[in-house]
Amino acid sequence: MSNEESSEHISWRNMVLQTADMVGDKVVAKWLCEHASGCEPGEFPAIQDELVTNRAAVHVHDMVRRYLAGEPVQYVMGRWAFRHLDLMVDKRVLIPRPETELLPEIVMQHLHHLASPHVIADMGTGSGAIGLSLLRELPVGSATVWLTDVSEDAINVARANAVGIGRPATHARFAVGEWFGAFNESMRGSFHVIVSNPPYIADADPEVDESVLQWEPHMALFAGNDGLRDIRVIVSEAPQWLVPAGMLIVEMGYTQAAAVSALFESAGFVEVRVHNDIAGKPRFVSGELPH
Ligand code: SAM
Ligand code: GLN
Repeated sequence: MSNEESSEHISWRNMVLQTADMVGDKVVAKWLCEHASGCEPGEFPAIQDELVTNRAAVHVHDMVRRYLAGEPVQYVMGRWAFRHLDLMVDKRVLIPRPETELLPEIVMQHLHHLASPHVIADMGTGSGAIGLSLLRELPVGSATVWLTDVSEDAINVARANAVGIGRPATHARFAVGEWFGAFNESMRGSFHVIVSNPPYIADADPEVDESVLQWEPHMALFAGNDGLRDIRVIVSEAPQWLVPAGMLIVEMGYTQAAAVSALFESAGFVEVRVHNDIAGKPRFVSGELPH
C-alpha cells in the first residue's frame, strides 16, 4: 500500500484503540472499524497489522461523528445482525431486537406439525427480520412467506434485504397495507402461520429509552393508551385468514401476557401459550385454531 493511500501509517489495531478513546466504548469501536474495513467479522483479527486507507479512516470518523451525536450504532453502520442475517437498517425501520430472534424459532417448531408447502405471513415486517429468517432457515421451496407493512419505506428496506438472502428470496412476497388489509380477499383461510412483532408500547410509557424515542420510527412502536391497539386487530381478525390448526404468534410487552392471552381465547384460539424471551420475560403469545 502506498503512503498516499494509508492514513498516517495507522494500523487497524491502533485505529480501534483511537476510536475507542473517541467513543468511550471498545465494542462499538471494534464494530465501526470492522465495518469500515469491509471485513466480515471473522476476518478482522487477521488484518490488525495492515494499514488503514484514507478512505476507511474518513468512513470511521464520519461514523464516530454520527455516533457521538446520539444516533444508534446500528443506523450509523446501516446494518445489524439478526439470527443468520446481516440486515440493512436505517431510520425507515425499527432496529431488530435480540428478544425477537426467538420468534422464527417458535414458528419453525410449529411447522413440523403441518404438511408443507407452508404459507406464512410476517405482518409488520419492518427490515424483514422475521420473515426473511424463516426463508433463509427453512428448506428452500417449503414455504412462501408474505412480508407486509403499512410503511412503504419499510417494505423497500425488506425488499433490499431479501436480495441479500439469495435464492430463498424467490419465495418472498411483499405487500403494503394495514394488517390484513395488505392481502387479497382470496387469501382468507390460507395461512399456516401468521407471525407479527407489532407495535405494542403504550403511548405514554415512561420506560422507553430516549434514543429509541428520538431515532426510531414511532409508527413501529406505539399502539394507543394500553399498547394493545394493533394486537387487538391482529388477534381478532387472524382466525379468518388461517387454515384449520393454523397458528398465530405475536410478540408483546412483558406486562401484557394476561391481556393478550385473553384476546386469543376470546377470538377462538386453543392451545394458547405464553413464551418467554432470552431474558426470561413473557414476550410472545401463540394460539392455534381448532382442527
Ligand atoms: N418485524 C420487525 C422486527 O421484528 O424487527 C419490525 C417490527 S416493528 C415493532 C412493527 C412494524 O409494524 C413496523 O415496521 C411498522 O411500520 C409496522 N406497522 C405499524 N402499524 C401497522 C399497521 N397498521 N399495519 C401493518 N404494519 C404496521
Ligand atoms: N421491544 C421494543 C422496544 O422496547 C418494542 C418493539 C415493539 O413495540 N414491538 O423498544
